[in-house]
Amino acid sequence: MSGNSSVVTSVLDQLSASGHKKVVFCNDPDTGLKAIIAIHDTTLGPALGGTRMFNYNSEAEALEDVLRLSKAMTYKAAITGLNLGGGKAVIIGDSRKIKTEALMRSYGRFIKNLNGEFITAEDMGTTTRDMEYIRMETEYVTGVPESIGGGGNPAPVTAKGVFLGIKACVKEAFGTDMLAGKSVVVQGIGNVGENLVELLRQENVEVYISDINEERLHEVARKYKAKPISADKIFTIGADIYAPCALGATLNDKTIKNMKFAIIAGSANNQLADEQVHGQLLLDKGILYAPDYLINAGGLINCYSELTGFGKKRTMQLTENIYEATREVIKLSKTENIPTNLAASRIAEKRISDIKKIKSSY
Ligand code: NAD
Repeated sequence: MSGNSSVVTSVLDQLSASGHKKVVFCNDPDTGLKAIIAIHDTTLGPALGGTRMFNYNSEAEALEDVLRLSKAMTYKAAITGLNLGGGKAVIIGDSRKIKTEALMRSYGRFIKNLNGEFITAEDMGTTTRDMEYIRMETEYVTGVPESIGGGGNPAPVTAKGVFLGIKACVKEAFGTDMLAGKSVVVQGIGNVGENLVELLRQENVEVYISDINEERLHEVARKYKAKPISADKIFTIGADIYAPCALGATLNDKTIKNMKFAIIAGSANNQLADEQVHGQLLLDKGILYAPDYLINAGGLINCYSELTGFGKKRTMQLTENIYEATREVIKLSKTENIPTNLAASRIAEKRISDIKKIKSSY
């Protein structure tokens, strides 16, 4: 008995420590569904976040992941100026083995029961087809295919946001946001990376590209007249800007030590291996870092547009705000002499607390 009650206490303690509003555990033995929906904050609007399907080693690991990811969504929506809260969900299990229509629809019914407090979208391990299954049970889902009213591929929108984030940083570092003549290394030329290469080449930027997919690397290099480089050259090539668009944690003790970039701005999530340590390390080295969750918010903006019925034009207008938002982060970082990732968090927290106050008046 005492063992069980201490488990309950520790889960609730975890929620209090991270400031979560609600966490829903979903269990459906008929379909094999085991999922956790975490709603971090809904001050600004309904909590929106993707559903990740992953074979976690334990339920505790799944809970830790969903709490971390949902909190990050609160900050992302807040700093982007969207009227959305932060949430996320994880389905525990191997998506290639246990995912079925019934499992996804059962999960959709759990979302339905939250009456709009949580809205989901695709993430690692889930697809637009899965979103269609969820849509069969509830309207609180985005990222369904364009053919049935969805927002379509978010990557071009994400790339545009990253491009504007780069421009905002270039303005700070070089006094003008004209990109011609600057050099950029794009690591990862997938959905977002390729669109970014195209935008950069349109402004006559010298673009170096790197990808583990050799065939794609040479195809994209030919198409946009970019220069392919091997992974070991990324940090020695001597370019002005590094745009990580593949994997996270590329900003760490090992890589930052020898870095000579003026700017780091890319789409990859969680670029700083350790938020507390590496943001400060970049500041100390005089490297301007554009917080990833701000400049890669195009995907979230695309979901928001789908929800609100905005067309492509309005989606792009909202994405353009990323330029000013990045400038504001840089300004606060300079005046307070704090890392940009910390400045971004402060701005996001201030917006939430300001809006909380106005909502308290009758
Ligand atoms: P993607 O899977 O289409 O592309 C990733 C590319 O990176 C692939 O070409 C892959 O071969 C390459 N890659 C993988 N490991 C690599 C390595 N070690 N070195 C070099 N290249 C490597 O993914 P995407 O949709 O373009 O997203 C890129 C990043 O941006 C991801 O971190 C993603 O989480 C993030 N992101 C994407 C969006 C979006 O709208 N797609 C939105 C926000 C954030």
